[in-house]
Amino acid sequence: MSQDLYQTLGVSRDADSDAIKKAYRRLARQLHPDVNPDPTTHDKFKDVTRAYEVLSDPEKRRMYDLGGDPFGGGGGAGGFGQGQGFSFTDIMDAFFGGQGAGGASAAGRGRRARVRRGQDALIRLEIDLADAAFGATHELKVDTAVLCTVCNGDGAAPGSTPIPCETCAGRGEVQQVQRSFLGEVRTTRPCAACRGYGTIIPDPCRECSGDGRVRSRRTLSVKIPGGVDTGTRVQLTEQGEVGSGGGPPGDLYVEIHVADHPIFTRQGNDLICTVTLPMTAAALGTSIDLPTLEADLVNDPAHSDVETVIALEIRPGTQSGTEVVLNGRGVPDLRGTGRGDLIVRMVVETPTRMDDVQEAMMRELAALRDEESPDGQVQAAHKSVFDRLRDAFGPG
Ligand SMILES: [Zn+2]
Ligand SMILES: [Zn+2]
Repeated sequence: MSQDLYQTLGVSRDADSDAIKKAYRRLARQLHPDVNPDPTTHDKFKDVTRAYEVLSDPEKRRMYDLGGDPFGGGGGAGGFGQGQGFSFTDIMDAFFGGQGAGGASAAGRGRRARVRRGQDALIRLEIDLADAAFGATHELKVDTAVLCTVCNGDGAAPGSTPIPCETCAGRGEVQQVQRSFLGEVRTTRPCAACRGYGTIIPDPCRECSGDGRVRSRRTLSVKIPGGVDTGTRVQLTEQGEVGSGGGPPGDLYVEIHVADHPIFTRQGNDLICTVTLPMTAAALGTSIDLPTLEADLVNDPAHSDVETVIALEIRPGTQSGTEVVLNGRGVPDLRGTGRGDLIVRMVVETPTRMDDVQEAMMRELAALRDEESPDGQVQAAHKSVFDRLRDAFGPG
């Protein structure tokens, strides 16, 4: 034995049988060839199974702990390769009691309950940025399974009742014995005749075909908290699918998708907007009215007193690319701890078209400011290089 079996299973030397079983189950779920097609995991799976075979058997474990060879001279080890042909569900069923059956009792034995909790449901909701930031209530149409009112969930037509299944004598399961590399394996499977319920409904309810629930479309009111973002899920307890047999409903998750805003982009809790300034305003300085995100809420009576514009001072000599940060003017935090910032990015716009008068004034301004045209500067630069070259190498 080159490997330490306890290490192989990732358990301590004093691990009890429960811990060993748990460790094996976890590894088998990762490594079984049915689950993990990567061939390098096949050997690992074999090692793990060997380790489990020894450590789960008190006799073999004691022998191993004393330094003996629990595989009895290799005879037992010979059969291991076949393990790969054994299905994942079989192993899980054999050792851990019908995990594959899904929703059986805690021990995995016995009848499946007809009445089961329903599944969670997920629905997408697109909202605008202001609603995402400040919260809103939305009407939502949802399509889920609801309780069948004809049979009240039990699935039997009015006046009839479910009867015990003859195939499994009401046990809901049938046993099968298989020989395998792990020895004799008893596999318990849900009874096919009654689908594991142990009872059969001879006269199913016409409305729900015996399922105890029907699909229905209804309108829900959802309160969206302020600060949500794309991908946030709002949980509505017990608004999901009603379970089979009229079981309690699962939860409904509303997944938020925030629509793009024409002015603001969001970065975490910060809002970013771009303000384009005429060249003259950037040079001279000015004051502009910047619309706030709250301005989108003015029609909402709950937010009638919001500030819809911010007077933003633009300092004389503002450069393109300057950012002004307005603290606390961004998106409120979902957990209620303050607000992000509003970041205003300035872009100075150079005139692209000027009439003759404007151009003449611009040239006059350039002359007054001693600013040669870039073309002139390039020529000057060339000239000075040429001059220097001639000074260095020229005649004279
Ligand atoms: Zn029904
Ligand atoms: Zn049955």
